[in-house]
Amino acid sequence: MNDVHGSEHLLALFPDELAARLSAAGEPCDLRQARSLLSRLRGHRGDAPKRETTPRRLREAVAALAEAGRPVVVDEVEDPADGFVKLLFRAADGALFEVVRIPLERGRFTLCLSSQVGCGMGCVFCATGRLGLTRNLSAGEIVASFLTARDGAPGPVTGAVFMGQGEPLHNYDAVLRAARVLADPTGGRVAAEAITISTVGLVPEIHRYAREGHPFRLIVSLTSAVEARRRALLPIAKKHDLAALAGAVRAVQAARGGRVTVAWVTMAGVNCGDDEVEALRALLGDVPLIVNLIDVNDARPDGFRAPDAAELDRFRDRLAALGVPIVRRYSGGKARHAACGMLARTRLADDAAAQQEIAAP
Ligand code: SF4
Repeated sequence: MNDVHGSEHLLALFPDELAARLSAAGEPCDLRQARSLLSRLRGHRGDAPKRETTPRRLREAVAALAEAGRPVVVDEVEDPADGFVKLLFRAADGALFEVVRIPLERGRFTLCLSSQVGCGMGCVFCATGRLGLTRNLSAGEIVASFLTARDGAPGPVTGAVFMGQGEPLHNYDAVLRAARVLADPTGGRVAAEAITISTVGLVPEIHRYAREGHPFRLIVSLTSAVEARRRALLPIAKKHDLAALAGAVRAVQAARGGRVTVAWVTMAGVNCGDDEVEALRALLGDVPLIVNLIDVNDARPDGFRAPDAAELDRFRDRLAALGVPIVRRYSGGKARHAACGMLARTRLADDAAAQQEIAAP
């Protein structure tokens, strides 16, 4: 049974893959049994099927393998101001990454998942960006972190957003596998529409995403529509300029229909001026968008600060005049979390509200 994991952790397998691996390892297993095994492993604890259809020996062996190499929670911190809970995980190799549990209305929760340990994108306003990239998380680590955070939640977890540490599309295959497992009936059982993937603007991967036709929501972090400024804020913009990014946004809109959500991290005196509104109109004025405005975390050593109400209102009004729906996002967990985590939670908290606003006329 030792080679059952293959190149991917058992928790991130689909039933046909598990059946094939078990059979190849000399443990005959059909698709129905594989579904049952995975549902049991990834279901809520205590959610065992009423009637077992797989041999006990197989169940126990697979359960033991699923536990092996699973990241463990080493710290859990709740922000009393808003109920956001940060769970710090340690992977088998000692790498640390976090998941944030976000309370929604009616006692539900959504989880903000990390996709990498650190991040290689280097966004200048982001604490994680300053750390650099240590490594990608595997799909198994992502799924395991979801399951552990879900099982510890005091209410149902109905959504997941890839907005924690890392650039999700920089770890494309693992993130997409994990998202598909989370949406699978034998996996996290989260509605695909309640799973959001955020990107800072990796153009080839956005095109790939549009081509492949995934059901998950994609958010593109634009933050500036002025070329030189975007390059200064988001180094990835030196590789993929705004014209290329606009082309990718158009491809997403054409593939999925509806409005494309664009995130904008607002910084006082930096990217909330009339020049930005005009640049956005010129760049993407013909594409249906929703703009999520997210205050950069205040109290920072690097000098960036959130705009005051007057600056933000003016920016918002000018954007609204373009006919772009604006969603202002709550910045959660400011007191306890680093900049990128804050950003993740902000984008996140926004998610449920955004869905509502998108649905509104
Ligand atoms: S904002 Fe996101 S993409 Fe940019 S450095 Fe931070 S974690 Fe990476």
